[in-house]
Order: sequence, then structure tokens, then C-alpha cells
Amino acid sequence: MNADGGAARGGPDLIVVGAGSAGFSAAITAADLDARVLMIGHGTIGGTCVNVGCVPSKTLIRATEALHQARAASRFAGIRAKAEVTDWRALVAQKDDLVAGLRQAKYIDLLPAYDGITYREGKARLIDGGVSIDGETIACPRIVIATGSSPAVPPIEGMADIPYLTSTTALELERLPRSLLVIGGGYIGCELAQVFARAGVAVTIVCRRRLLPEGEPEISAALTGYFRDEGITVRDGIAYRSVGHADDGVALAISGADGDETLTAEALLLATGRRPNTAGLGLDEIGVETDPGGGIRVDAGMQTSRPGVFAAGDVTGRDMFVYMAAYGARIAAENALGRGDARYDDGAMPAVTFSAPQAASVGLTEAMARARDIAVESRVLTLDNVPRALAARDTRGLIKLVAEKGSGRLLGAHILAPEGADAIQTAVMAIKAGMTVAELGATIFPYLTTVEGLKLAAQTFEKDVSKLSCCAG
Ligand SMILES: Cc1cc2nc3c(=O)[nH]c(=O)nc-3n(C[C@H](O)[C@H](O)[C@H](O)COP(=O)(O)OP(=O)(O)OC[C@H]3O[C@@H](n4cnc5c(N)ncnc54)[C@H](O)[C@@H]3O)c2cc1C
Repeated sequence: MNADGGAARGGPDLIVVGAGSAGFSAAITAADLDARVLMIGHGTIGGTCVNVGCVPSKTLIRATEALHQARAASRFAGIRAKAEVTDWRALVAQKDDLVAGLRQAKYIDLLPAYDGITYREGKARLIDGGVSIDGETIACPRIVIATGSSPAVPPIEGMADIPYLTSTTALELERLPRSLLVIGGGYIGCELAQVFARAGVAVTIVCRRRLLPEGEPEISAALTGYFRDEGITVRDGIAYRSVGHADDGVALAISGADGDETLTAEALLLATGRRPNTAGLGLDEIGVETDPGGGIRVDAGMQTSRPGVFAAGDVTGRDMFVYMAAYGARIAAENALGRGDARYDDGAMPAVTFSAPQAASVGLTEAMARARDIAVESRVLTLDNVPRALAARDTRGLIKLVAEKGSGRLLGAHILAPEGADAIQTAVMAIKAGMTVAELGATIFPYLTTVEGLKLAAQTFEKDVSKLSCCAG
């Protein structure tokens, strides 16, 4: 590579700070472009997704879904089943094995496969013209910051004096608490509340607004009802006053529509969002700006306010999903090396909450569209209109589509359904292709599938789908 700075002196062409999903994506992209990369990682290699995020949470969600499916089997005539947790510690150990195996196969074992990547363990700090690590200075004109995020601790009075769990430590628990208070109704709060509830813990989830507050209100309301049906106490629309010790655990004082109240539980889980890891990176000193939430500001090409310094993944404070981390990091690495001019585009980004039913979204909600002064039409189709759900005797859920008024162009799709996470990708493709709801409604879908609900929901813009013959749509 004909590079200036560090490369010309035999140093790396690119330094990647952070060895999680974004870090690996940036490093591999650069190595594939024949660049010499130094990737610096602090903490467990692989970062959040494989170690303490997607992988461990999704395997425990599947495990507790098995418990629920057994309990719910009696909805079919003539079937009764029973399932129970006999050894939570064994389940957590099995989860740890899965994590260790994937960390090895998808991260550690990849390093020797790329001659261009050198990995170094340590905590890096950015300095003028490079990074410093363990007192050593490494010069390099191009840097990608991919240092991820950590659980945020909400500023509730008394928080510093009580023990609490985060998503990381909750996934490590070897003994189930009898009761659990979950603060936060975002996707991590919803997923973990349901895992523990299905495992037999008495769970209360509290949130200031509503479950999945950024999503469609219809989905929020329906999910709240399903959670309550499963025995989860949902306290939404409340304000936190303080936390403290209770006789047998923690006490959370809240204010709500019914006045002041104190909720108690054996354990408290904080699921109040994640904060970008920027402390100690020396960003101010080198002129890398952050936003009020602590995320590193980047332009569409992933460059920070400091030329030559790029950032990607959770540290940018937006789109905190692993595929967006990997996607943004690819763009950052290519642009840092001057080998592309790709622009970050999250207009057709899927977002999934692995609750049951799953809540999956792409594009604009009705409220987002109206906030942008886009005139829209929307339709909600409940799952009792979808043959797949009828056959499964589980009609919990709905599909909401948002289309531009006049043109009918699909702007957003929001699914609450058992297979919503898979079904949403069809809407992603439709939005990417600029399809109208009429075109989506005229597309052939397989019968009986959950994704067929998208076709039916699209058809509701023109007709009453309850009057259609079974598969004649
Ligand atoms: C409970 C949970 C469930 C999730 N489930 C999903 C899911 O199902 N699907 C999905 O898409 N996303 C999910 N996510 C989000 C996903 O895990 C993250 O968006 C993604 O892992 C972010 O990747 P990253 O590379 O930006 O950061 P990380 O993976 O956090 O990597 C950053 C790395 O940089 C290191 N680092 C920090 N500072 C320094 C420094 N100064 N020097 C060197 N190294 C440093 C960190 O230790 C870390 O290893 C989940 C997250 C959580 C917490």
C-alpha cells in the first residue's frame, strides 16, 4: 500500500481500536484490501455480541421458550405437556460453552487466517498522529474507533448504594432469584424480563413511558397485554423516585397515575440503555466530538470531526445492532484507506426484539413519518386474519404497515408475531426496492406462513381481507 505516515515507516496502514464485531469487520475489510492492520482489543475478545449480548441472550430465550411451549401445548385438544427448570446452573454452563465455541470459531481462529492483521491486547488511547498503548506510541494516520458500549446506570437516587444486575451479570446468574424488578422497557428489558419470568421468577418490569417506546403504540399495547397474560407485572408511565435496600432485596419507590408506591424484589436488573465506551480514549484532546448521549459523531462516510479518525458500531451511539456495527465498520475501513466512498444508510434497517411474540420493525413508524411532514396512510392487521396463526392456535400479534399517501410507497413495516424476526426481512427488501403496498399485496407469498401476513396487511389498503377466500388473495 502506498500510504503516508505510519505505513511509510513500516507501521500499520490502519489501527482499529476495539476487537468486537465492528473492530473485526473493520480489520477484515482492511486486510482484504491488502492493508496492514493493527487491531487493539481490551477485555474479552469478540466484544458484546458473542460474549454478553446477542448469543447468550438468544440461547436463553430459546431455552425458556421451550418451557413456555410445553405449558402452552394444551391449547391443542388432546395434548398436555410439562416442562420445568431443573438446573439453571447447567443451562448457564451450556450457554457459556456455546459462547466460548463461537468466540473461538468466529473471532480468535480468524486472526491467523488474515496475514494483514496483527492483534494486540491492551487499552488504547488516541493521541495526535496515532495511539498510545501501555506507554508505547504507535504512529498511524488512519484510525477506526470501535470501542462499543456498556450498560448505562440511570441517575436514580440511591443507586450507588444498592446491588444491581446489568444485562451482562443477569446472563451469568447461576441461581434464579425468586423475584426480579427490571427497570427499562426497551428491547433488552423486554427480552430478559420474559426469560426470567418463563423460568419461574416473579418479574415486574417498570418503565417511564411504555414497552418498546420508540415503536408503534399498537405493538407496545399488545405486547404489554401478552406480558401480563404470562404473569409479568408491567408498570409503565411511571417516574422513579429512589432505590434502596429492602428486608429481602431491593426497594424501588415510584410515582405513577395511582400515586406513590414502593415495589420490592429480591434482585434488580437495570436495562436502561447503553452508553458508548469513550472514557479514557482521549477524544477531547485530539478533537473528536461526541453528541450529548456520549456517542462519537460521524459523517455519512463514518469519519469523525478529526480527519483520518473514523468510528463505527455502538460507540457512535446509534443503531446499536451487531449487523449495523459490522456494516458501519466496513464503510469506515474502506473510506479510511481511501478505497471507497460508501455512505451509511439505515433507511431499511431491520430492528428486532426477541420477545414472544417477536417485535420486528423496518423503516418509519407513523409518528416518525408525521414528524417529517410526510402524509401517510397506515393499516393494522391483527394475526387472527393470518391462517398460519389460526392453525398454530396462537393469534397473538399484529402487523402495521405505513405507506406514503397518494403513491402508496411502503415506508414502514412493524410486525408483532411469533416469527416476526424472519418475516421482517421481506419488508426490508420491499422498502429497499421502493415497492408500493399494492405491489406487495400482489406478490406471491407461500401459504401458510407468518410472512404471508405482510401480503394480507398490504391488501387491507384496498380491500377487506376478512372477505377473501382462504388462499385466493
Ligand atoms: C443483552 C444484549 C443483547 C443483544 N442482542 C442483540 C441481538 O440479538 N441482535 C443484534 O443485532 N444486536 C444485539 N445486541 C447489540 C450488539 O451486541 C451490539 O450492537 C454489538 O455487539 C456492538 O458491537 P461493537 O463492535 O460496536 O462493540 P463491542 O462488541 O462492545 O466491542 C467493543 C470492544 O472494544 C473494547 N474496548 C473498549 N475500549 C477500548 C480501548 N480503549 N482499547 C481497546 N479496546 C477497547 C471493548 O472491551 C470491546 O471488547 C445485544 C446487546 C446486548 C447487551
